[in-house]
Amino acid sequence: MMYLTYPELGVENFTGSEYTGLACSSCKSFYSKDSTHTYCQKEGCGKPLFAYYNLPERFDKNIFNSREPNMWRYKEFLPVINSSNIISLGEGFTPVSKLDNLSENLNTDQIFLKDESFNPTGSFKARGLSMAISKAKELGIEECVIPTAGNAGGAMAAYCAKAGIKATVYMPRNTPEVFKQECELYGATLIQVDGNISDCGKLVSQQNNNWFDVSTLKEPFRIEGKKTLGYEIAEQFDWHLPDIILYPTGGGTGLIGIWKAFNEMEEMGWIGSKRPKMVAVQAEGCTPIVDAYKLQKDTAEFYHDAKTIANGLCVPKPFGDTLILNAIKQSNGCAIAVSDNDIIAGVKEIASKEGKLICPEGAACWAALKKLSAQNWISENDKVLILNTGSGYKYLENLV
Ligand SMILES: *Cc1c(COP(=O)(O)O)cnc(C)c1O
Repeated sequence: MMYLTYPELGVENFTGSEYTGLACSSCKSFYSKDSTHTYCQKEGCGKPLFAYYNLPERFDKNIFNSREPNMWRYKEFLPVINSSNIISLGEGFTPVSKLDNLSENLNTDQIFLKDESFNPTGSFKARGLSMAISKAKELGIEECVIPTAGNAGGAMAAYCAKAGIKATVYMPRNTPEVFKQECELYGATLIQVDGNISDCGKLVSQQNNNWFDVSTLKEPFRIEGKKTLGYEIAEQFDWHLPDIILYPTGGGTGLIGIWKAFNEMEEMGWIGSKRPKMVAVQAEGCTPIVDAYKLQKDTAEFYHDAKTIANGLCVPKPFGDTLILNAIKQSNGCAIAVSDNDIIAGVKEIASKEGKLICPEGAACWAALKKLSAQNWISENDKVLILNTGSGYKYLENLV
């Protein structure tokens, strides 16, 4: 396994990060590289910040062939400036495989799955938290906090453990036990909350504490980690993007990050202007993005009494709602909801036919794909990519 060659990281060709600073995704206010602000401070704005780069016109992407198979292979386009600050457990460059046994009744047999369950802590949250905690270390931060629906808490706890940063995790009490246990094993302080991730977020913001809040998109670097998904998809599909990407959408960092990666790569001339249709998949028990999409709005309403077995999708009011809805619209994509019953059936179907025990969030994409195919939204020969965002093993207590 090449993963074992870490910590060399294959950085011999590293030319330095091209990171230039942060700018507000809405009002464009600029923040310097040393800023520890987590979201826009301009009065009346308060929107997510994006990292910007001095994107080179000429960059030989063949360099990647000689680098380690993890997300740091794209270091030039990531915000960590001094590579000694990188906290890596081997995240990223997860496999893409074709689902040959499952395409029978679908409009296309070009169905691919990118399997993020291979990441440390068993979910793609590792990408975002590896980046956020590396950057926190670079900025001299000593304590981090996160409100989480489950996987982000475990990932933050693991990377903080490796970085020697104090970690506090706010998690809904009704999250499956394994998500809580891993946080404690990684040495984090776990605070259980009667409520959902929004209630956790509210409690975090009410504490008068001098910690770094790495809430989804209220912190600009997790999305830079998730962005590497977009670079990998391009590289793994030989720089020809698929036609459709189905993404299980909670806070939406992955979808927004993939979209940002595509824009950066186009600016560097690595890909053309053609984009995959981006599909935001949600659970019927929590559909803020689907509802806004249907009403053609560019912000989402708070979704009350949210509940689904796919806890990563249980985000009643995504902070990055406008960014998610923009990407769907610009890509001619859509937003679609599936039931928990279909999700559970999907987990079982993929496990028994493809030998992959995927998470409910990933199975939601499979269920959505079947629906979209039945509606003829998917055409013959469309190349479709499903993201399985995590391991099904962490959810077993609710699945069988
Ligand atoms: C967090 C999570 C999601 C949703 O990701 P967002 O970036 O919040 O949209 C999907 N699947 C799993 C397994 C997750 O942990």
